[in-house]
Amino acid sequence: MDGKADLHLHTVFSDGALPTRDLLLRARSAGLTTISITDHDHTGALQEAAVEGKALGIRVIAGVELSTFVGELDVHLLGYFFDPSDKTLLASLALFREERVKRARRIVEKLNDLKLPLKFEAVLAQAGKGSVGRPHIANALVEEGLTESYQQAFLKFLGSGRPAYEKKYQIPPREAIALVAGAGGLSFVAHPGNAVDDATLRTLMKEGIDGIEAVHPSHSAEMTSSYRNIASECCLLVCGGSDFHGGRKKDADILGRYWISLGEVDAMERRLDRRLGRLNEP
Ligand code: AMP
Ligand code: FE
Ligand code: FE
Ligand code: ZN
Repeated sequence: MDGKADLHLHTVFSDGALPTRDLLLRARSAGLTTISITDHDHTGALQEAAVEGKALGIRVIAGVELSTFVGELDVHLLGYFFDPSDKTLLASLALFREERVKRARRIVEKLNDLKLPLKFEAVLAQAGKGSVGRPHIANALVEEGLTESYQQAFLKFLGSGRPAYEKKYQIPPREAIALVAGAGGLSFVAHPGNAVDDATLRTLMKEGIDGIEAVHPSHSAEMTSSYRNIASECCLLVCGGSDFHGGRKKDADILGRYWISLGEVDAMERRLDRRLGRLNEP
């Protein structure tokens, strides 16, 4: 089975720079044959992606990125293959997005207290129709000339422990996994190399995670192969991709470089088939 699958991409429905169709065109040019769009708390790109994917000859798998916590750690989960019309899932995503707006407002208030005259409207303008996040606030600060760079915005104000930091509304992994499974999908721990230690990984396994994102730009080759080994030892699936944000995070040239095989995608579908009783075990 030849082909490259990149299952971690963002559009303007979260903090990516590209609209859905542009992202698909870029994916095709980069030689990807299967993709998943995994916007934070948003599935708004999925319908158009399915239609355009058919036209362009790219397979599009439903995806989403959710924020959870284990103790003090931020743990991102990726959900795949769920029913994008699942009412419970859609209602939860809408709630998460509303909570993001409230949090962005609190961050702007803190920035204003720090004598940075950022208007909330400038943040909303950055987010457009997408779920609002700190990247939009960072961009707004740069646009308004209140910080010298995106990175500085995080270092000085928005990063964890910095003076304008506000916690995000997050659910425990168990709830996120149930939400995705309830909609017929699979859950993976995203970019575990970023902050997920072994104990947290074990916790996630106990809570019913289906797999690990082994391939990610933040992982060294050694980390990727170590996560693949852990997955194989623990009967977990593997996913991966570029976490492409459309050039917004100095990532303009990464499409096509971070991918998993179509066999690995097939393994996900076989697991779902077994779970949903679509296959009889020999
Ligand atoms: P949010 O979901 O609003 O908490 O924003 C999280 C996003 O902000 C992450 O996905 C990163 O893209 C970005 N981010 C978080 N921390 C940093 C940092 N220290 N420097 C640059 N970007 C960051
Ligand atoms: Fe992001
Ligand atoms: Fe993430
Ligand atoms: Zn992501």
